[in-house]
Amino acid sequence: MSGVAVIKENPSPAADDLVVLSNVNKHFGELHVLQNIDLTIARGEVVVVIGPSGGGKSTLCRAINRLETIDSGEIVIDGKPLPAEGRELAALRADVGMVFQSFNLFAHKSVLHNVTLGQVRVRKKEKKEAEERARSLLDRVGVASQAEKYPAQLSGGQQQRVAIARALAMDPKIMLFDEPTSALDPEMINEVLEVMRQLAHDGMTMVVVTHEMGFARSAANRVVFMADGRIVEETTPARFFSNPSSERAKDFLSKIL
Ligand code: ADP
Ligand code: MG
Repeated sequence: MSGVAVIKENPSPAADDLVVLSNVNKHFGELHVLQNIDLTIARGEVVVVIGPSGGGKSTLCRAINRLETIDSGEIVIDGKPLPAEGRELAALRADVGMVFQSFNLFAHKSVLHNVTLGQVRVRKKEKKEAEERARSLLDRVGVASQAEKYPAQLSGGQQQRVAIARALAMDPKIMLFDEPTSALDPEMINEVLEVMRQLAHDGMTMVVVTHEMGFARSAANRVVFMADGRIVEETTPARFFSNPSSERAKDFLSKIL
């Protein structure tokens, strides 16, 4: 094979590629939960991941910030291959903000403390600076007046907005949202989606696993449809919702829309 052919087959990643997954595989015992996943996320891009339950969406998110190991393939974040352990791993996790379905706030710490903790421990900020930043972020997500309360005193929607502020406080390069509104009462879903829409508008790179099709249509640059451990289809929201190419996606959409 000539050198030129090799270069063509392995183009260097574009400068604005923030996350690149190449041929990623993951098994849970016999179950091949991520199958040859290739996915590139550009800086500033909002990628919505949609698909049936059990398809591997959460595992994909967890693999990106190393809450799960992978069996083969590579995950590169901002030009750096994912480190396996130690201080490098802690730094990488801080670069990848994650918001889960369950809010996962520290129950015995105030809202303010929840949002300052990581800044002080991981980002090594002074307490005063961390608190100023926390208050500004709590204001941005609309819960500034709740700063001195404990998580249990807040509604689900408020807790999830605090969880978003906490992740943002680490100044992440990318935010991963894994079904962030699935555990919320219906009347609280929009206040969380609105914060996410604003974040997308402000240029944050985001991967959002969601069943909120309105959000996917209005905020996504790209829809990734995942089923049975594979990326079945990857396209614009307009095309995905009007004219999906795979039978699997057509079937899925016919059940939820
Ligand atoms: P999704 O988020 O799309 O619903 P998941 O990534 O959570 O899918 O799960 C994909 C598959 O992997 C499911 O069949 C699930 O039961 C299985 N799975 C997820 N986590 C584990 C685990 N820690 N051990 C064993 N199986 C798991
Ligand atoms: Mg999931």
